[in-house]
Amino acid sequence: MNVREIVLEAAEALRIAGIEEYRLEAELLLAEALGVSRLEILTDSQREINDAEKKKFDGMIKRRKKHEPYAYIVGRKEFMGLDFCVGEGILVPRPDTEILVETVMEAAKKYGLKTIAEIGVGSGCISVSLAKHAGLKCYGTDISETAVETAEKNAENNEVSDNTAFFKGDIFDGIPPMKYDVVVSNPPYIRGKDMDTLMEDVRKYEPEGALYGGEDGLDFYRKITEGSLEFLRHGGYIFYEIGYDEAGEVSKILADNGFTDIKIEKDLSGLDRVVWGRKGDFDV
Ligand code: GLN
Repeated sequence: MNVREIVLEAAEALRIAGIEEYRLEAELLLAEALGVSRLEILTDSQREINDAEKKKFDGMIKRRKKHEPYAYIVGRKEFMGLDFCVGEGILVPRPDTEILVETVMEAAKKYGLKTIAEIGVGSGCISVSLAKHAGLKCYGTDISETAVETAEKNAENNEVSDNTAFFKGDIFDGIPPMKYDVVVSNPPYIRGKDMDTLMEDVRKYEPEGALYGGEDGLDFYRKITEGSLEFLRHGGYIFYEIGYDEAGEVSKILADNGFTDIKIEKDLSGLDRVVWGRKGDFDV
């Protein structure tokens, strides 16, 4: 079979399996299997595929047909222009989370913020991007050992190991005890009754521990906000990614804990995506 034939066949299989971007993904996965660019797939459509290449590609298509996330199959995901290794047990970086990173970077520049504590680092995409693009000093925790190891590897691959340090622990457990300028988190925030409505790719394959935020989805906002009172300096800032309908409740949690100047940022779809606020100058 040649490239064109094999792409058409795989695209059809993915379409039947309910993969939305079936043609594009078939092309990209073949490019991945052959170790070439998508452009070469498009321009070299008569190239014959050998058995070893076909076998490798078939394995990838088989996984994708079951709705395993594309990023797990290729083992990486682009975020903030950087490459991140991902795999089972790691939440795949989402484009929406770039809004969170950009909000922190803008505030860091404006208010001269330098030290960051990140709760729940996952792949490390937030801390690594902040270290790489803004030169910030990032310390992070995650309860998952796989996450800590992955974040370390991603820091190394992106050459920011000197500006990042990751620790295994729940919420603030394990973080170096000091007063940080910033606390940032994209915590698990899906509420109990919404877990079943997640896309199959997410629900079946991505770690529940990175998604489920308790019955009302807000467990981690409460815990992190309370914990931040010890680790955030007066006048420091907290930044959260939130579910699109959680801005009101998360703002209230911040206000109840003495935060001021609370602001909401929208994502590219116009949905509320980030809530941030400033810790008051005095203990409450
Ligand atoms: N944005 C993710 C999703 O919709 C949820 C990530 C999270 O809970 N932090 O799948």
